[in-house]
Amino acid sequence: TEETFAQIKEKDPKIEAFLALNEEKALEMAKAIDLKGITTENPLAGIPIGIKDNIVTKDLRTTAASKILYNFDPVYDATVMEKLYQSDMIPVGKLNMDEFAMGGSTETSYFKKTKNAWDQTKVPGGSSGGSAAAVASGQIPVSLGSDTGGSIRQPAAFNGIVGLKPTYGRVSRFGLIAFSSSLDQIGPLTRNVKDNALVLNAISGLDERDGTSAGVSVPDFTAGLTGDIKGMKIGIPKEYMGEGVQPEVRKAIEKAVATFKELGATVDEVSLPHSKYGVAVYYIIASSEASSNLQRFDGIRYGYRSKNVQNLEDVYINSRSEGFGLEVKRRIMLGTFSLSSGYYDAYFKKAGQVRTLIKQDFEQVFNDYDLIIGPATPSVAFGLGEISDPVTMYMNDILTIPVNLAGVPGMSIPCGFGKDHLPVGLQIIGKPFDEATMYKAAYAFE
Ligand code: GLN
Repeated sequence: TEETFAQIKEKDPKIEAFLALNEEKALEMAKAIDLKGITTENPLAGIPIGIKDNIVTKDLRTTAASKILYNFDPVYDATVMEKLYQSDMIPVGKLNMDEFAMGGSTETSYFKKTKNAWDQTKVPGGSSGGSAAAVASGQIPVSLGSDTGGSIRQPAAFNGIVGLKPTYGRVSRFGLIAFSSSLDQIGPLTRNVKDNALVLNAISGLDERDGTSAGVSVPDFTAGLTGDIKGMKIGIPKEYMGEGVQPEVRKAIEKAVATFKELGATVDEVSLPHSKYGVAVYYIIASSEASSNLQRFDGIRYGYRSKNVQNLEDVYINSRSEGFGLEVKRRIMLGTFSLSSGYYDAYFKKAGQVRTLIKQDFEQVFNDYDLIIGPATPSVAFGLGEISDPVTMYMNDILTIPVNLAGVPGMSIPCGFGKDHLPVGLQIIGKPFDEATMYKAAYAFE
């Protein structure tokens, strides 16, 4: 833990991944764990971990990278935090992100712009940009992120590390500051596959405080890490290798396909015909749910309150006007619009119907295949400030969003380099609650 803080102090001035450190408490915890001793039953004991700043941590500032929560010190821990403590892991600090996890570059953070670990003129991806860059730059071995439309997989891809979004319901969302409740999942970002599986072991499981948490058994995700994937059946969707994908990214994925074949798997072309509607569906559903979830930030109970007020109405309006950033306001307006009477049927209801079609595409392929692979992102990391148009930014998630809409698990693992010698991420998508098979294939590939 001491070494971790030394690494953070040396490297973070350049990367700017951390929003808050937990140094005093972390060192105390480390001492207690030293006294207790580390056993094989607790392989994660004493391992430092960084936490995305939308996961609430008792007495440790939690802002979701928003001005509206600039002074929020939670009075309770998220379920995943309790589980990390049960594993004797040591939370060392909170990591930067896009405000309320809305974005794909960590540039919408109110506080600072995190840099890519490989090239500090590039974005780290987002919204879990701090979680990815801190791990990839060697500051911490492990972090937690959240993924609503790609926010674990895209930054993992951009920084050349392993990031997994579990099946919806696998990990409790209790204490995750809600963005889009039907899509959000917490998951681990690590430097290798085995570490990732170990952390998922620790944070998974039924939680009665999250009504959508699933009562399915949690296997040991490290059990299948044998390197043997002979006979595994893998599909690669033709829609994932089209025009919009950078040629260097396509090449890296083709090389990965060849590797899987050498390892004894079969890889066939498959189709996810409705995935092209994913981005449109996602921005209606995610923004609608966000507009409802974010109503609680009203300047009354906690967080930022405007001083510029004459009456109660002003408290609400001015606190929200001054406290939320541009991207968050854009989503609240879009969501409120698509939920309003007269538009509901045309937008929100229709989006739900198309979501079902997207889900059925995956079910169809998984009737015949164990896994789906493809690129995690159409491009490698882009430059800081390079994308200013929101729709161009939204299109970056075209390959990750369908996975959230379908509720299935998805991960990104490094698979070589593309343009400007930046890392390319291979996306592996599994059947619901079959993260074990994804880890098995990823481990053999790694
Ligand atoms: N980039 C997507 C968005 O802006 C996804 C974000 C996420 O997964 N939290 O909504």
